Amino acid sequence: MKNIVLFGPPGAGKGTQATLLKEKYDLVHISTGDVFRFNIKNQTALGLLAKKYMDDGNLVPDEVTINMLKEEVNRNSAANGFIFDGFPRTESQAKALDVFLNEKDAKINGMVALEVSEDLLVERLLERGKTSGRTDDTDEGKIRNRFNEYNTKTAILKDYYQAQGNYFGVNGVGSIEHITERLAAVFDKL
Ligand code: ADP
Repeated sequence: MKNIVLFGPPGAGKGTQATLLKEKYDLVHISTGDVFRFNIKNQTALGLLAKKYMDDGNLVPDEVTINMLKEEVNRNSAANGFIFDGFPRTESQAKALDVFLNEKDAKINGMVALEVSEDLLVERLLERGKTSGRTDDTDEGKIRNRFNEYNTKTAILKDYYQAQGNYFGVNGVGSIEHITERLAAVFDKL
């Protein structure tokens, strides 16, 4: 099994790259943001709860997110492995993921991070907001708050995986194809 955490700040290109890499490596792509948005669209109880947080650019509480993630993994028990996109986003999520995979005799092979500067990201997100229909992409204040959440709660996960010898940074600036090549060079080794 190959289990990879695709990491990076909002707008780094995780979703775009995960869609390409899941085909290449025959992995299941789980985007927690996409699962939340699916639930919001279908007005499930989970969706109604998550919406309150997402609309302001805040993180959804850990317990809710962790339970959802476990369900998604369990629904795909035949998978060759997973690309986790948008999860973990807190240290407590990372620890829960390690325990959960360990129970299945599995592990995270590596965290592969897309590195992009914040100014470029805000520009990309505002551009995406024009067509994505995502309410969290249209307001610079909400975008800044997502970076604040990222910087205070999520960025430390680099240290968490680095301590396990499992952090691999990749330059996330360039054409989509070039970035896929850079990521694939890391995936191949994991
Ligand atoms: P982006 O990385 O571009 O901000 P995502 O689609 O990954 O977008 O996530 C959108 C929103 O969904 C986040 O701002 C957050 O509110 C919620 N979310 C997604 N994943 C998590 C998570 N692991 N923990 C808590 N909240 C999450």
